[in-house]
Amino acid sequence: MIIHKTNFLMRALYPDFLWRIPTKEKEIYLTFDDGPIPEITEFVLEELAKFNAKATFFCIGDNIAKHQNVFQQVVNQGHTIGNHTFNHLKGWNTENGEYLKNFDLCQVEIDKNEIQNRRLFRPPYGRIKRNQAKEILKTHEIVMWDVLTADYDQNITQEQVLKKTLQHTEQGSIVLFHDSIKASRNMKYVLPRVLEHFSERDFVFKKL
Ligand SMILES: [Zn+2]
Repeated sequence: MIIHKTNFLMRALYPDFLWRIPTKEKEIYLTFDDGPIPEITEFVLEELAKFNAKATFFCIGDNIAKHQNVFQQVVNQGHTIGNHTFNHLKGWNTENGEYLKNFDLCQVEIDKNEIQNRRLFRPPYGRIKRNQAKEILKTHEIVMWDVLTADYDQNITQEQVLKKTLQHTEQGSIVLFHDSIKASRNMKYVLPRVLEHFSERDFVFKKL
């Protein structure tokens, strides 16, 4: 079973991570992991632009290096960039030194193009050891999520992904999408509908 809504226990275990944004405004924070990927990330950018939406992209360093042009488009359109390691490492299975080196390598790729004041990191798979996080928190905020769209899951229908996402997203939610090949079938269906649904209800989409 996929847990679409991050539960209280998870948040209580890691209170120093960012799970949602406390706000009195009708705001939603869309995030896109694992890009930049040609065509797919570009699709996301076009959809966001239609709704005047800003978002946050947690990029894989290796993809930035391979797809500079796509990365530059994300930067030029004023979205926020976050670090997602260079090779999408799973913290639980990776020795600390290697993990932190890979995190640094991604940051080098980001900083070549764009120095951002706010430094954000999202651990791939949401899995990170406490002592890895402790090091990263010295320089970066660690951003998790409130709503998991599960767009990458091939076993659920586009309609189910959409329904769950609409059901769980609320004021201040951080919503996790993927601009990856694997997620693209579901994401391309769900994202335009989420943007439309909440825009019609006077929400704005903001970057972190
Ligand atoms: Zn990821």
